[in-house]
Amino acid sequence: MNVEFLGTGGYHPDAHRHTTCVLLPDRGLCIDAGSAFFRAPERLAAHGVTELDLVLTHAHLDHVVGLTFPLAHIERGTLTAVRIHGRREKLDAVREHLFARDLFPVLPPCFTWHPLPEKESGTLPVAGGRLHFREQTHPGGSLGLRYEADGKRFVFCTDTAPLPGTADFAADADLFVHECNFPDGWEDLAERTGHSTLTPVLELARAARARRTLLVHVSPDAADPADPVGLGAATNPPPHVAVAVDGLRAEL
Ligand SMILES: [Zn+2]
Ligand SMILES: [Zn+2]
Repeated sequence: MNVEFLGTGGYHPDAHRHTTCVLLPDRGLCIDAGSAFFRAPERLAAHGVTELDLVLTHAHLDHVVGLTFPLAHIERGTLTAVRIHGRREKLDAVREHLFARDLFPVLPPCFTWHPLPEKESGTLPVAGGRLHFREQTHPGGSLGLRYEADGKRFVFCTDTAPLPGTADFAADADLFVHECNFPDGWEDLAERTGHSTLTPVLELARAARARRTLLVHVSPDAADPADPVGLGAATNPPPHVAVAVDGLRAEL
């Protein structure tokens, strides 16, 4: 299982990071379509893949704006199907608002819409594996995801406050990805916006005992883009934790 971090920033793109998009090219699976989604079709083509299952954690703009980007690839026939999975109300919001005539009037016919079961948490078959989803704490809601295939376990939790139960959800993952929108010291804003600061994320990483943990959805307003959440100054961070950057590839 290959995991490619196409976009690792939150909120808006900056000179270093595009917004959330993670691709498993050999599985034809993508999570979120932030501004980095423009990179997905070429990476799929490199693996000879023309169909995509796209799972949306939620429908905030920094996770869906890229859905308007792949028209040229669709016209050329190098991207022939995009099956979009998510909460029903999020899929409806994307169709009604992002693809409104006054915002972006071309809805590709190869997009199809697949609402998840209306449960707090659940499991369904996607892209040749099992996708587990779980509701998180974020304005309007968001989904934590765990994808299991070929005996590997990949966990992706973004746009959420640190949640009880996440360490269990991510237990023994081959790769655990969690958001860290803010460094320590921004707890008030993190709570108001439904995001996480460094210390509780490191505690989750420690408890989950994942083989590797990568932090994403870092703020574009960070003072140091090389260490946007202050990981270098953290006391005793688990050794397998790092901040992801655009272009990072992990093989599980
Ligand atoms: Zn976001
Ligand atoms: Zn969000």
